[in-house]
Amino acid sequence: MFNYSIGQDFFEDFKHSPISRAAIRVKFTLDKKTDFFYFNFDIVGSVETECDRCLELFDLPVEGKYKVIVKYTETQPQTTQEEHDLIFISPHDTHFDIRQLLYEYINLSVPIQRTHPIDKDGNYTCSNDVVNILNRHQQSKTEKKSDPRWDALNKLKK
Ligand SMILES: [Zn+2]
Repeated sequence: MFNYSIGQDFFEDFKHSPISRAAIRVKFTLDKKTDFFYFNFDIVGSVETECDRCLELFDLPVEGKYKVIVKYTETQPQTTQEEHDLIFISPHDTHFDIRQLLYEYINLSVPIQRTHPIDKDGNYTCSNDVVNILNRHQQSKTEKKSDPRWDALNKLKK
């Protein structure tokens, strides 16, 4: 069994990765059968994502278990949709890079709904205070950014 700790540096290698910051643990096991391997991925951790409700960044829990069959074959057979968890490799391959698989499975583990968790009363745990502070901050910034030409005009008015 292999244990991997996956963080920011892992995702930096994938150009269009929707994930950048993460703290993920992957347990990877390999079962050798007579003419194929079972690759098992057990993914647990969190990825930093923007909340769909309050737009605040938070650590979204991710979890997933994936199994893939890796088979040796001289010629790459045509794969159908149902066989997407089946990978063929050449018997001449001396090693197999599981990073691409890891990347895909971590992305698959990210829930479609990305919001702060719901508490026991059924309310979202978004920190609305932060949203308010952000709004106030934005307001004070626009107030300060007055055009000096208008300042001159305002003085004239007085
Ligand atoms: Zn939120």
